[in-house]
Amino acid sequence: APILLWFRRDLRLSDHPALHAAAQAGPPVIPIVLRDPVTDGLGAAPKFRLGLGLEALARTLEDQGSRLILRSGAALDVLRALVAETGARSVWWTRAYDPDSVARDTEVKAALKAEGIEARSFGGHLLFEPWTVATKEGGFYKVYTPFWRAVRDREVDAPLPAPGRIPAPASWPESERLADWRLDAAMHRGAAVVAPYARVGERAAQGRLGHFMAHVVDGYAESRDRPAEDGTSCLSENLSLGEISPHQCWHAGVRAMEEGKAGAQTFLQELVWREFAYHLMHHTPRLTSANWRPDWDAFPWSEDESAATVHAWKQGRTGIEMVDAGMREMYVTGRMHNRARMIVASYLTKHLMTHWKIGLKWFEDHLIDWDPASNALGWQWSAGSGPDATPYFRVFNPVTQAKRFDPDAAYRRRWIAEGQRDPPESACAYFEAIPRRWGLAPTDAYPAPVVAPDEGRKIALDAYESRDF
Ligand code: FAD
Repeated sequence: APILLWFRRDLRLSDHPALHAAAQAGPPVIPIVLRDPVTDGLGAAPKFRLGLGLEALARTLEDQGSRLILRSGAALDVLRALVAETGARSVWWTRAYDPDSVARDTEVKAALKAEGIEARSFGGHLLFEPWTVATKEGGFYKVYTPFWRAVRDREVDAPLPAPGRIPAPASWPESERLADWRLDAAMHRGAAVVAPYARVGERAAQGRLGHFMAHVVDGYAESRDRPAEDGTSCLSENLSLGEISPHQCWHAGVRAMEEGKAGAQTFLQELVWREFAYHLMHHTPRLTSANWRPDWDAFPWSEDESAATVHAWKQGRTGIEMVDAGMREMYVTGRMHNRARMIVASYLTKHLMTHWKIGLKWFEDHLIDWDPASNALGWQWSAGSGPDATPYFRVFNPVTQAKRFDPDAAYRRRWIAEGQRDPPESACAYFEAIPRRWGLAPTDAYPAPVVAPDEGRKIALDAYESRDF
């Protein structure tokens, strides 16, 4: 009887434990993808990016004489139907850890098992399953550094090769057409502007890793903080959809360390930040939806999404160049440099005194590297409401940050057209990428700051000092 292999955020053939096991098991393997409420609930950019990823995966499977079968509906209903149609007795998948996926998978597993179907989940998305890392007292880690110390010397499984052959069934079940899913439908901003920046699929991801290890990792400890440079791996986009595995990244990092590449350990540490985010999301699922420290519920953040200041932040028109450059980079490329993410998040939650959940949602709608755990941890870290967060009273000054990390203004010039005699293509692309109804043009005047750095700092600190917790 065939094995149904349910792809979710694991769009690769190499180092895929579930696929590897299925291909070796003997029976035919039927790769499937479901458009279910969890997929439908994705933000605009992640959904659009998922569409690109599925297209690439389908092609790769076809090259191997296999196929990708697409179906829509509630996961359990669709799986039951496929089991009935194909005579499959097994449904296998790679584990996910966000609260919505966990709820769905738990229900699916219990129901299928009760019906005598083998429902089996595999690792692959993380280096360390969240429940395998525990403190001496048996609890989970709330601070990064001890977490890093607990895992850094662990054996990490060597990556598995892609299966040489994926056994095909004698006949394939019907498939819906990916184009009919319209996964790009919510991209009100210019999908055509963003698409060329995406590096889609397993081959592209391996190319990125290779480029990073050959040319970037040596200087990574410093270059990672300078947003104008090609100074990071950009692998978050591919890790998010599993087009590359963290194990493949880890082992490449270890090899680079052995070759004496200076920044390699820092790269491994960053990969472990991703692990730490998942560890926290697993043990405290509220990470994605509520203040991790409940005492912050009393903090007087504004939740008014229609405020003019929030609108200016979303548009990249706060009048603070470093903030606006970051927001515009995200519009055009679907990504934002980590330094800029920290700066725009600090500005929103401190200078503009706006709840981090508004920023989290905006990122969720605009990032092609959106990750449920890293986005939530990043926002709660920046806002001060999270575990191991930057203390609220440490307010980033976006002007000082710009001087330090973008000393020659290359990043700001790349993304802000207004006021430049001959703005670069990237800066002009912003006006193509944003919704037309905003009615903005490169010839517009650059706005004055909606909240100046010192004023914002004072507003934030006053609120912090008068809080009643
Ligand atoms: P590199 O510097 O090359 O790092 C390698 C890998 O390590 C990354 O691909 C990523 O998987 C991991 N990593 C690096 N920094 C972090 C970090 N701070 N937290 C967790 N993992 C990290 N990252 C996402 O992948 N998706 C998100 O939606 C996301 N939202 C964020 C929101 C905010 C407010 C902040 C402050 C950070 C967010 N991050 C998010 C973390 C970080 O900004 C990105 O992972 C990083 O910019 C990705 O670029 P890179 O792949 O070139 O990273």
